[in-house]
Amino acid sequence: MSDKPEKLIADDGLRLDGRRADEIRPMKIEIGVLSRADGSCYLEWGRNKILVGVFGPREAHPRRTQRPDTAVIRYRYNMASFSVEDRARPGPSRRSIEISKVSREAFEPVIMTELFPKTAIDIFVEVLQADAGTRTAAINASSIALADAGIPMKGLITSCAFGKVDGQIVLDLNKEEDNYGDADFPVAMTQDGEITLLQMDGHLTPEEIKKGLELVKKGCKEILEIQQAVLRKKFETPVEEPEGEAAETAEAENKAVEAEASIESSSKTVVVEELIEEAEEFKEEISEETVLAEVCSAEEISDVEELKEIIEEAETRSGEDILEEVIEAEVEEEAEEEAFEDEAEFEASFEASFEEVSEPEEVEELEAEETVSGREETEFESEDFTEEESQLEDEGGSEEITSEEAFESDLEIESEAKSRKELSAEETVEEKAEETGEKAEEAGEAEEEKSEGPWKVVKDPSEAGSRGENNE
Ligand code: UDP
Repeated sequence: MSDKPEKLIADDGLRLDGRRADEIRPMKIEIGVLSRADGSCYLEWGRNKILVGVFGPREAHPRRTQRPDTAVIRYRYNMASFSVEDRARPGPSRRSIEISKVSREAFEPVIMTELFPKTAIDIFVEVLQADAGTRTAAINASSIALADAGIPMKGLITSCAFGKVDGQIVLDLNKEEDNYGDADFPVAMTQDGEITLLQMDGHLTPEEIKKGLELVKKGCKEILEIQQAVLRKKFETPVEEPEGEAAETAEAENKAVEAEASIESSSKTVVVEELIEEAEEFKEEISEETVLAEVCSAEEISDVEELKEIIEEAETRSGEDILEEVIEAEVEEEAEEEAFEDEAEFEASFEASFEEVSEPEEVEELEAEETVSGREETEFESEDFTEEESQLEDEGGSEEITSEEAFESDLEIESEAKSRKELSAEETVEEKAEETGEKAEEAGEAEEEKSEGPWKVVKDPSEAGSRGENNE
């Protein structure tokens, strides 16, 4: 505890905290600071810090405390052990019980307890920090908390104390003035000025009490203005309830939106599932079509491959085999033409001989001529035979010519093959050329055989004799 100052009020009339005698300490009030209480208030008055929670009206327990015609008010003042300079003993004390009683009685005239029979209205006061005037501060805070809890009241209760310091009546004592002052006089009153609490500690004259009560009225009026301003600020502000309604409306809208979204999502889910099923069916169809297409394409590919092979063969044969085929075809055509000319000559001679035999007047002459013609034919045949041999020799020369022509064609093929730069084809061309030469020789022999055919038929003496026998 600090030592007593020499003067609590300076010469200029100012007190240690700079206030004048009729001034109260600054006050700060907050409403609804406790979420589990029906009403609450936090109040700072000077260096005092008070927290109040109100519960009820609620059923009074134990039942023996209930009153059938009215509600009971229970007021509990508690000073925290850390709220004072010297540690306060925890739990109820004589002082705290006294303060709780006088404070409860301060509210009984204004709280409409008859409206809530058998119930209890609990007021819990916690002094967090004490600096003199805690009971008056607690009453002011409790009045706000009761109003915050919606407890019907005839009016607010305000409380303030006056005292005597250095022989002067001052309003709202602080810790030094309370401890070293001459008197402490706490008062609580209604809005109408009816005193609900009055205590006195010290010595005061009736004039001092009268003067002090005037100061307390002034102080309580200021406090009442602060309380009303705070309550008006809370309950007259058209912000919080609309916010709550708006919040509820927003929640309802959000729920509706979520429901719509869930419906949409469910419908979308159904649509997606249908699409997936269709896609799977389409996929199966596509797979079947793909298999068929692959089969068809395989067949087409096989056909194409065959065509490619044919084309390649045709390309490889274009320079060689085609030339051979042309040569063979030309040789065959020449042989057929010569055979046809020989047959024509044979038919003409046969018809002529048949005409000579058919005339009887000239038979003898014909017989004579036959002998002559036979000789002549024999000679002629011999001459023709020699000519035939010579022709055959000539044809042998033609074979040589044919081989030379084939050799020339080989040169052409070789040049073509070299022009194509297919070295491997050269060997093939040479082999083909040799085969071509052989085929040309065979073609020459065939031509020789074919050329022998008509000669043997027409100019064979034995056959001619047989023909003569037939003529005979
Ligand atoms: N005080 C203290 N220890 C206690 C009780 C009170 O230090 O056990 C201080 C406290 O600061 C309080 C002041 O003494 O505010 C005056 O106490 P009083 O009993 O007069 O009640 P109040 O004036 O607080 O209503």
